[in-house]
Amino acid sequence: MYLGKRAVVIGAGVGGLAAAQALVGSFEHIVLIERDVLPAQAEARPGVPQGRHPHGLLPGCVAALDALFDDFSTKLCDAGAKQSDFGQKLLLEFSAQAALPARQLGIPVVKCSRGLIEWVARRELQRQTSIAKLDGRRVTGIVATPDGNAVAAVRYETPAGAQETIAADLVLDASGRGEPTLEFLRATGREAPEETVMRIDMNYSTAIVEFSPENRPAYDVLRTMPAPPGNTHQGLLLVREDDRFFAGFGARGDDAPPSEWPDLLEFAKTLQTSTIYDVLMHAKPYGKIFRHKFPENRRRHFERYTDWPRGLIVLGDAICRFNPVYGQGMAAAAKEALLLRDLLASRKNEARPLDGLFEALMKAASPVLDNIWTLAAMPDLAFRETHGVRPDNFEDALGFNAMMQQAACVDAGIHKLVVEVMSLLKPGSALREEPVVAKIRQLAAQFDAAKDSLEA
Ligand SMILES: Cc1cc2nc3c(=O)[nH]c(=O)nc-3n(C[C@H](O)[C@H](O)[C@H](O)COP(=O)(O)OP(=O)(O)OC[C@H]3O[C@@H](n4cnc5c(N)ncnc54)[C@H](O)[C@@H]3O)c2cc1C
Repeated sequence: MYLGKRAVVIGAGVGGLAAAQALVGSFEHIVLIERDVLPAQAEARPGVPQGRHPHGLLPGCVAALDALFDDFSTKLCDAGAKQSDFGQKLLLEFSAQAALPARQLGIPVVKCSRGLIEWVARRELQRQTSIAKLDGRRVTGIVATPDGNAVAAVRYETPAGAQETIAADLVLDASGRGEPTLEFLRATGREAPEETVMRIDMNYSTAIVEFSPENRPAYDVLRTMPAPPGNTHQGLLLVREDDRFFAGFGARGDDAPPSEWPDLLEFAKTLQTSTIYDVLMHAKPYGKIFRHKFPENRRRHFERYTDWPRGLIVLGDAICRFNPVYGQGMAAAAKEALLLRDLLASRKNEARPLDGLFEALMKAASPVLDNIWTLAAMPDLAFRETHGVRPDNFEDALGFNAMMQQAACVDAGIHKLVVEVMSLLKPGSALREEPVVAKIRQLAAQFDAAKDSLEA
């Protein structure tokens, strides 16, 4: 039993691909419209310029994709992605004194390029007979019913420049920027969504590098965090399916990592530790260096509308964009898609199943987004460059964060819990439960004592 005849998904990024899969079984026809001509291989494409930068797949994202696509991680690994335990082959340096040691945590992590993630998802969608893909076509508008209270169709431009229209009972905007939805709201006389914006001014440069077998790093992921408030420089090495590595660097405000290899290598010296530089010294750059500016974290409060049009759903970055350094964007989109799938399944016997659907989705997704927003905002606010309201107890929160990092270095249980929270497998509140807080304080004191005795 279908909830509608046709659903149209705008955008074949990770959000649109996950959403199209979530709609299978609930709509007779699903049409995925993408402005790019989608490549036959796993590669970056112009519509998602961020795809040239490292995309960490958080285990919380993988769990959602596994549920949607039936064991997505195995399919990804069969296509070349590397898998290991999160505590192995991954070095995370909070500072020169605090780095997480190698431990078996029982949390698998999958590593590859963004291009491979999209390619495997596209291949899975091709197997669905109810899904049709219209690529190389830019959506130019969502058409409303005459009363403006529901969606009726989607208009798009063909490669030849003609405008065509396709009728739809449901339109899902996964276009990243959400322009089709904003334009629809304007055209039907609605206000623009209220927003929470946090200006962060992150600047990225990413090179792809290769190593000779004898110089290949022992780790698949090497991450050196910045040292707020003064040093905003951070670095990440992330293995790809072709055994090359992304070497991604970030800085904030007016400061940006350079765009030429020798300068980027020099930049690596300015990180808190020399670990990444020591490895990169032996690397050879492959291809161009790409830069990206990410000005702000932005959350649109669609949940505040009281007159939302029937059949319009927004998903992924079009709802909320987070500082990419925490690797949460794809997880937010995949979790929203999974919530949508379950909501649709629960409405199959309702007379008007699309009424209030987006309101219900936003209600279910809001706690997920609150959690991710807080996890990203707290470390961002530690930098002078971030424009945002610091809570009253902000210094205490930063102090606790430092203790948590120290505790994770010395204790396997806290290490695992920190990884589960960072990976979006557990909410941040798991680290604020009283017995955990007491343990973190006690372990941090031990960490300090051990450091003092070493220095003495
Ligand atoms: C530098 C950088 C690094 C990042 N690193 C990570 C990371 O490590 N881990 C992580 O989880 N997330 C990361 N992200 C975030 C991640 O890229 C997004 O959150 C994720 O892709 C979900 O986005 P989306 O599908 O909603 O939108 P997008 O990925 O932006 O996809 C939108 C799609 O819609 C298409 N489109 C747009 N307008 C139209 C139109 N009018 N008609 C037809 N098609 C249209 C676009 O071509 C595109 O294919 C990073 C982001 C940036 C900027």
